[in-house]
Amino acid sequence: MGETKQRSVVLDIINSTHGHLTAEDIYQRAASAYPAISRSTVYRNLGILTDRGVIAQVNAPGKATYFDRNPEPHSHIICPRCGAIEDLPLESNAISSLVPPDTDVLSYSLIINSLCADCR
Ligand SMILES: [Zn+2]
Ligand SMILES: [Zn+2]
Repeated sequence: MGETKQRSVVLDIINSTHGHLTAEDIYQRAASAYPAISRSTVYRNLGILTDRGVIAQVNAPGKATYFDRNPEPHSHIICPRCGAIEDLPLESNAISSLVPPDTDVLSYSLIINSLCADCR
């Protein structure tokens, strides 16, 4: 399998889900479809896709790193017990209201830790 094909396999996996997967989740799914694919190949391609801004990386402190199909800045709510992660619907003007008036926000990352319904 060539580099381009490997990359599209990885991207298709992310795009076919709700969009937040750990590298290990992605590797497991890739390997079940393409047993020859290696963990390092999957991890390398996740790095390339992140560097190119096709996907984003969400680092939950003390938790896994998630790969996100949506590369635009947005916020997340994460369950600290089971790691369930969801996008937080927060308008970008809500972010503007948190910072001084002449601030030019280039990017942001807001993570709210909250027990999910299953863990509550
Ligand atoms: Zn939970
Ligand atoms: Zn997200």
